[in-house]
Amino acid sequence: RLNLREQLIKELEIIPLEVVCRNVAAGSLSQRFGLPEGQALPRSIIEFYLKDDKLGDPMVTEEHITAFNWASTQEIDDMMALTLRVNDFLTGTFGAVGITLVDFKVEFGRLWENDFARVILADEISPDSCRLWDTQTNEKLDKDRFRRDLGDVIESYTEVARRLGIMKEMPTVIQGGLH
Ligand code: UDP
Repeated sequence: RLNLREQLIKELEIIPLEVVCRNVAAGSLSQRFGLPEGQALPRSIIEFYLKDDKLGDPMVTEEHITAFNWASTQEIDDMMALTLRVNDFLTGTFGAVGITLVDFKVEFGRLWENDFARVILADEISPDSCRLWDTQTNEKLDKDRFRRDLGDVIESYTEVARRLGIMKEMPTVIQGGLH
């Protein structure tokens, strides 16, 4: 971040996969395996989906990923390790403010340095791509409020920002100021 409005962006070669990490059953996992939403998973589970809206982002296995050359075995290992680090960090960050990180999606890209490509995170992390539930009440504070027509979308996103202590920047942005 250079300032409130500018970021320095590295150009990456995007890997065409969505990497989902889950701690608690919800959404498509619950539907696929008939698990009640809210059931804690025995351990964090990582899944890969092909980034292709026309095909509805189908789930893929390591076999598909390596056979079709979307990523190498080493890159799959790197993406899994990075995703688990993100999960540990975010679980702690949200846990400290009374929010359960149910699941989230991230994407990765290759940063080329001469002939060597390093896999790095290439995505935003926000309530649009995470499931965030209030730890006490299980109230949804994420995009499911929009997807499931629960209302109070802005209030919920604002509540997440407020609990994380990043609200003080928001009035400045809304007023269009640059301080
Ligand atoms: N997700 C996302 N973009 C997508 C699909 C899923 O950010 O195109 C996120 C979603 O918000 C949730 C997690 O990935 O946090 C797992 O989503 P799921 O597979 O349960 O699909 P959904 O029920 O959201 O269709």
